[in-house]
Order: sequence, then structure tokens, then C-alpha cells
Amino acid sequence: MNTQSTTLLVIGGGPGGYIAAIRAAQLGIATTLIEGEQLGGTCLNIGCIPSKALIHAADEFEKACHYAADSALGIHVQSPRIELAQTVRWKDGIVTKLTSGVAALLKKNGVQVIKGWARIIDGKTVEVQQNGAESADAVAVSAPLRIGCQHLLLATGSQSVALPNMPFGGPVISSTEALSPSSLPRRLVVVGAGYIGLELGIAYRKLGAEVSVVEAIDRVLPAYDEDLTKPVAAALQRLGVKLHLGCTVQGLNANGDAVRVRNAQGEESELPADQVLVAVGRRPRTQGWGLESLMLDMAGHAVKIDDQCRTSMRDVWAIGDLTGEPMLAHRAMAQGEMVAEIIAGKRRHFLPAAMPAVCFTDPEVVVVGQTPQSALKAGLDCIHALFPFAANGRAMTIESTDGFVRVVARRDNHLIVGWQAVGRNVSELSAAFCHSIEMGALLEDVAGTIHAHPTLGEAVQEAALRALGHALHV
Ligand code: FAD
Ligand code: NAD
Repeated sequence: MNTQSTTLLVIGGGPGGYIAAIRAAQLGIATTLIEGEQLGGTCLNIGCIPSKALIHAADEFEKACHYAADSALGIHVQSPRIELAQTVRWKDGIVTKLTSGVAALLKKNGVQVIKGWARIIDGKTVEVQQNGAESADAVAVSAPLRIGCQHLLLATGSQSVALPNMPFGGPVISSTEALSPSSLPRRLVVVGAGYIGLELGIAYRKLGAEVSVVEAIDRVLPAYDEDLTKPVAAALQRLGVKLHLGCTVQGLNANGDAVRVRNAQGEESELPADQVLVAVGRRPRTQGWGLESLMLDMAGHAVKIDDQCRTSMRDVWAIGDLTGEPMLAHRAMAQGEMVAEIIAGKRRHFLPAAMPAVCFTDPEVVVVGQTPQSALKAGLDCIHALFPFAANGRAMTIESTDGFVRVVARRDNHLIVGWQAVGRNVSELSAAFCHSIEMGALLEDVAGTIHAHPTLGEAVQEAALRALGHALHV
């Protein structure tokens, strides 16, 4: 067996692992990264990027269909059609551009990338099994390779949760298959009205599928507060997405062409389906690669970490989805960067004041920091105010007046502790929200900042003004 050694060994080349490797190499740490599939991980290959590409294509197609039916803007379009194979090729092109960019960055920074599946031998030794062909950017091992390391960073990400009564296979698909459709199902049943179920459910509806969503809780996006999700629920209704809330799925019917659903009263019905997208959550990828041999402390299904991403074993670190919620790419990246810096001797802790979460539904939802309800639960005495996009000129010009921006601040000193927004393109407001919280801004700071006109961002300033009792446009 071949052997080699390195200072930092990273298992997993997703956003957590590849960022950690790049930063470590920048800081002069000898770094090896092992990736079993594709660099970029879930995020670039089967997650954030392909889903946002498909959502964009669906938005554009729906817009064209809308103009074909209604020309209030004076735009006329005739019989738009979509060639799905070309859409998927376009999406794959973006993925390839980004994943090869990651490979180039790793190479440029001097990270050794090994293509293969890692198996943990002990906290300082990993074995790599051959997987795939050698490329310009990655070494593929022909015989098992043993790598010794001083620091081991675990970044193996997460996997879709399957339903025991309706496992993946045939018509039952996960987000991975839903992101590379060979044809559009006429009838799609989505199980789970969370991030994936609604982002992709809405996209499929806009592409022309009949979409039904089954959700166990009695409202959509149950992780968000109800005021924020109401405009999303209204949009789902407008789009013709059928909601089955407070319902559980019992499995496929005998013919395999319908989903059996039970409501809160115990009544059963069948929802005809050509395809079923199961999106009931993701689980840290902890099995099949020897992790159990380290006997690390766990937090439920996730690897337990402290605020420096240290596990319960010295010099074994864990980041990203493997460490549980929130399973978001930007969290994985921030953790990865921090771990590299700690290993290089810098003093860092992972205690962000602002961790944004964005749901790319139509309308989009953004949450940063405390909501009025979470502030109350945390014992904070807060004020909050919201500014509706119905009173924002820019929102009118883009025909998107649904939604609002809400600010939450401490009553005593007006320190801003949270922002939420729902509306078209509000994902882009998340930067301003995070900046104000991380910089310790007061309501007066935001209210006193000149915001460009006409922009959706004016609603941010107006929400702060309203919290101070003197909104100008409402
Ligand atoms: P991953 O990205 O999962 O990467 C882990 C890598 O480790 C994989 O490449 C895997 O092949 C590799 N690996 C695993 N085991 C081994 C082993 N034994 N040996 C070698 N390699 C191994 N997050 C957002 O913030 N915004 C979004 O818009 C968003 N959209 C999403 C849409 C979908 C459909 C999905 C599924 C997820 C989405 N996410 C989004 C979540 C985001 O993708 C994850 O939070 C993020 O990818 C986690 O990064 P990670 O580095 O922890 O793990
Ligand atoms: P989720 O946790 O967002 O939603 C799962 C939904 O399924 C919940 O509403 C839950 O109540 C429901 N559910 C669970 N079991 C059910 C059952 N048996 N029958 C009916 N409903 C059931 O999970 P997801 O949508 O699969 O996404 C997984 C993770 O991926 C997210 O938590 C998030 O971390 C990440 N993600 C993020 C983004 C983003 O940031 N925009 C997008 C997609 C995915």
C-alpha cells in the first residue's frame, strides 16, 4: 500500500472542505483534499447552483407564457415553448464552469486533490479507495493509499432523507434527479413544503407541471414565521399549486401511479402522480466511511462540535452539513475558513451575529437574526416594524408589490437584532441585513443612511424609520 503524509487532510470537497483547503494552503499549511465525487459538493453539483439555475429558467419561461396571455405591458409573445434538454445543458454548463473554477483555485493554491473515497482508520490516518480517472486537477489512486495527517477535517456533507414507506427509485425522486429532468412530469407530487419542496415545486409548476404539495405541518415553510410565509402561500395558490397541509404520505398505490395521503382526520385519498419528489429534509453523511471508529460525541445525527468546529477528538475538526443545522453553504464556507485559520495559529471562534437564510421561492424569503417571536423567547425586550413593498415605487415598476421588510431592534438602545423580508429579489437585501447586524447598527444608523431611489432597499430604510415612529412613505 502506498503511504504519504500531510499537515491538514480534508475529507470532502464541498463548499466547506474546498474553502478550508484553499485558505489553509494560502496560510502555508500542507493540505490534501479527498473528494469521492465532484469538487463543489452538493452545493455546486446538485444543490444551490443547479436549483437556482432551474428556478431562473422556470421564471423566464413563466414570464414568456404570461406575456402570451396578458399584454398589460404592451409585450406580445406567441406560443412560448421550452426545450428542457437544452435548459438542463445550460444548467450543467454553469455547474461545470464553477466546479472547474474550484479545481483551478485548489491547484493554484497548491492543494493536493485526490479523487477517491476516504475511509477513516484512526484520527490521524485515512485510507483512500480508487475512484474515477486521473485528471489535470486531481490525482486518482490506482491502489489503496494511506495518508497520515496532523489535522483531520471532516466535511462530508449530507444526504436526502428517504421515506421508509416510499423509498427513492422509479417515480420517487430526490432533489438530485429533480434538478436534471429528462422530461417534465405531467403531475408532480412533492412531499415536504420546506426549502427544496417549495423552491423546486414552484419551478416545476412554472415549467408547466401540475404540482401538489403534501406537508405534515399545517402550513408551508413551517421553519419560518407565519407572517413571512403568507405571501408565499398566496403565490402558490395563484400559481395553481395544490396544497395538502397537515397530511402524511402512506406510500404509492398498488399501480405506482398515485400517492396515498392521510389527513389530520385520518381520511385517506390518492394524489395521481407521474413523479414524486421527496423533500423531507437532509441528514449528515456519517455512515459508510469509518466515522464511527472515532467514537466522536454526536448531537443527534450530526457530529458535535464546539464554537471552533473542534470535535471531541483532539485535532479532528468537522464543518458544514455534517455538523447539522443550519445546513447552508455559506455556513459551511465560513466554518471552513475559520478552521484553516485556527490551524494556522489565528484566534478565531464561530459566533456569527448574523447567519442569513434565504428561501428562493416566489416571492423569496430572507431571515437574519432575531424575529419578533424568537426575541421574545430569548427574553429580549424588542420593538419591530415592517414596511410593505406596496408602498415602494421600485416594487411597482417590477410588478412585485407583495411582501415587506421587517426590522427587529432592542427597545432600550435601538440595536438592530434581526431583519426579515419577503418579496421578489429580496435575497439581495441579505447583505445589507447582515452588515447592519454584524456592525452593531442602531435603527438611527439605517434610518439616517441615504438609500438609492428607486430601489427595493428603500424599504429597509423605511422599516427602520417606521420602528422609530416616523416612516415617510406609509
Ligand atoms: P457537501 O456540499 O455535501 O459536500 C460534501 C462532499 O464530500 C461531497 O462532494 C461528497 O462527495 C464528499 N464526500 C462525502 N463522503 C466522502 C468520503 N468518504 N470520501 C471522499 N469524499 C466524500 N444552501 C444554501 O446556502 N443556499 C441554497 O440556495 C441551497 N440550495 C440547496 C438546494 C438543494 C437542492 C440542496 C440539496 C441543498 C441546498 N443547499 C443550499 C444546502 C447546501 O448545498 C449545503 O449546505 C452545502 O453544500 C453543505 O456543504 P458541505 O461542504 O458541508 O457538504
Ligand atoms: P426542510 O427541512 O426545509 O423541509 C422539509 C419539510 O418536510 C418540512 O416542512 C417538514 O415538516 C416536512 N416533512 C417532514 N417529513 C414529512 C412527511 N413524512 N410528510 C410530509 N411532510 C414532511 O428540508 P428540505 O426541503 O429537504 O431541505 C433540506 C435542507 O437543505 C434544508 O434544511 C436546508 O438546510 C438545505 N436547503 C437550503 C436551501 C436554501 O438555502 N435556499 C435550499 C434547499 C435546501
